[in-house]
Amino acid sequence: MKYYIQTYGCQMNVADAGEYRQHLQNYGFLPTENLKEAQVVLINTCTVRQHAEDKVFTLLGSLKRWKEKNPENILIVAGCVAQRIGEHLKRRFPYVDLVIGAKDIDYFPKALGQLSRLGQLGPVSPFELTSKSNHLATQPLKHQITTFVTIMRGCENFCSYCIVPYVRGKEKSRPVEEIISEIKCLVEQGVKEVTLLGQNVNSYRSRRFSPSDLETHEGLKGQLQWASASEMNFANLLEEVNKIQGLERIRFVTSHPKDLAEKIIYAMRDLDKVCEHLHLPVQAGANKILEKMNRKYSREDYLSLVEKIKKIIPEIALTTDIIVGFPGETEEDFAQTLDLVEKVEFDSAYTFKYSPRPGTGAAKLENDVPQEVKEERLKRLNELGKKISERKNQKLVGTKQEVLFEKDNKQKFEGRTRTNKIVFVSPVSPAGGEEENLVGKIVKVEITQAYAHSLIGIIDYSDY
Ligand code: SF4
Repeated sequence: MKYYIQTYGCQMNVADAGEYRQHLQNYGFLPTENLKEAQVVLINTCTVRQHAEDKVFTLLGSLKRWKEKNPENILIVAGCVAQRIGEHLKRRFPYVDLVIGAKDIDYFPKALGQLSRLGQLGPVSPFELTSKSNHLATQPLKHQITTFVTIMRGCENFCSYCIVPYVRGKEKSRPVEEIISEIKCLVEQGVKEVTLLGQNVNSYRSRRFSPSDLETHEGLKGQLQWASASEMNFANLLEEVNKIQGLERIRFVTSHPKDLAEKIIYAMRDLDKVCEHLHLPVQAGANKILEKMNRKYSREDYLSLVEKIKKIIPEIALTTDIIVGFPGETEEDFAQTLDLVEKVEFDSAYTFKYSPRPGTGAAKLENDVPQEVKEERLKRLNELGKKISERKNQKLVGTKQEVLFEKDNKQKFEGRTRTNKIVFVSPVSPAGGEEENLVGKIVKVEITQAYAHSLIGIIDYSDY
């Protein structure tokens, strides 16, 4: 019995897919990459753009015959489209067995158990549905060196263009103990790098009881006064994760600029495993647009935050997200975005044309920037971004970088620097010996060539 998961969208969805995987395996299903040989198909959906939603409709339509031919097969739709228009999906595709929204992921094991076929099978380890969390420790895929670990879900920022707060609900942080034990388990299975994941990791909040509290109150854990526990913020969580033996690197996404406290920047500087890379979405460079986007910071706030970060961590690599063509964006506003990009010198940027999402605040505004203007602005922005990335990467030629190798692409090994730059190295054998498998190793690499999106290097064997 096999399952197939098709995931669309962001890293959060990728991490959620890991959780769905665990629960399906708990019913004895094995993974397959061939949809045709699966008895369970789960489509993990994204609603951030209409295009992503359309892909889901197309796939669901194409699965009608698969389901008709094998009525006992199970078709599940999960994620953000399921949350946003679950009822519509059930009506339009009545052969779907289970529609479970992103907000309801904690109820997935219970919902699975209620499907008659799986109900008969029963889970391998029975699952108690608790009000807190149904998170199963994510198992890394075979030979996986890096992985995501969800530390919180949901968002309460309500940026006016964004559907996430509506489909993922309020912020909910996972308990520190649960996160630490999941990472330890991943490390035992060969993972070297984790990316702590949340819509807004900087606002992570959890409580932790001291070991003596737990001893004193053994058996009464649930009744402990919440106030007697110490509050843990994101910087504290980084400190705890940094202590995990065998873990080599820590990254995190996504950081909202308004919540990036100074103590997080100092934690990044002081904790040896936390990498010198920060993804800090700016979205736009003009105050008028930032305000309409409800981003809760100004251009000046952002620039002074960047200045502070660069002062504290001079080697930091900064990446960002930018939307062009937001309602009301004039040529002058866009020029402010280009100017900000020049000033910050982002190492790379994810850039998008604005498209309205039904139900968001911005959808009520007139989508008044013509498509061809959006395209032209996006092109100019990408050209500038590429020029800056190339310029910054060129400066790395001749330097030695610490690279964690993640993949063997046969012709080349692929890894990343601490600053999250992709590095390719040709397989070579030290001193004429057998070719070394670099996957999972951290090695010093001398950078010999640089492009906008990748670096090429040679292993520095003098470092061995
Ligand atoms: S911070 Fe803004 S853009 Fe990010 S998930 Fe929350 S609402 Fe969306």
